[in-house]
Amino acid sequence: MIIVVSGPGGVGKGTVVDRLLEVDDRLWLSRSWTTRPQRPGEADDAYVWVDKEQFVTHQEAGGFLEWAEFLGNFYGTPLPDPPVGVDIVLEIDVQGARQVVARDADVVLVFLEPPSTTEQERRLRARGDAEDKVQARLEKARDERTAGAELGAHVIVNDDLEHTVSELADFIGTERRRRGA
Ligand code: 5GP
Repeated sequence: MIIVVSGPGGVGKGTVVDRLLEVDDRLWLSRSWTTRPQRPGEADDAYVWVDKEQFVTHQEAGGFLEWAEFLGNFYGTPLPDPPVGVDIVLEIDVQGARQVVARDADVVLVFLEPPSTTEQERRLRARGDAEDKVQARLEKARDERTAGAELGAHVIVNDDLEHTVSELADFIGTERRRRGA
């Protein structure tokens, strides 16, 4: 099963997904490639950090399950090679989600929403992004919400980390049972 977790920048996707992996050991997180520079303090293993040439070469060789350009940088999911018996988690944007659905309609789609725009703005600023980036991401968030709704993603409001994670874990459990896993 592929579980796609999407949502606007500053919604806390990374934190939610990290916690989800701690509570469910049957999940495997795909590590994306990006051409975005690493932020100060960002974990070395948050992404595979590559330049545009490396990215494009990999893309042309058919090495990505999906990829997208997001605010001037490339991001892509390498073709997954998970251990046996796990479900795959992708933390990607809605353009990527659309491509994964096109490849395999039986994908579990989750869209995380911030409790409010004010809170989302606060989280984006706390991350140290420059003001123009914060504004660009807020604007992008509006398009993402529309796209998430069009894809019929299951919406979860990330108001409280533990609450969000347990709602997400329950949803995944329901989908597993539905598929007889
Ligand atoms: P950030 O720069 O904040 O780490 O990520 C920007 C956006 O790109 C986020 O919405 C994030 O979920 C998305 N993203 C991260 N990895 C991938 C990927 O492999 N594919 C796609 N399509 N989006 C990604």
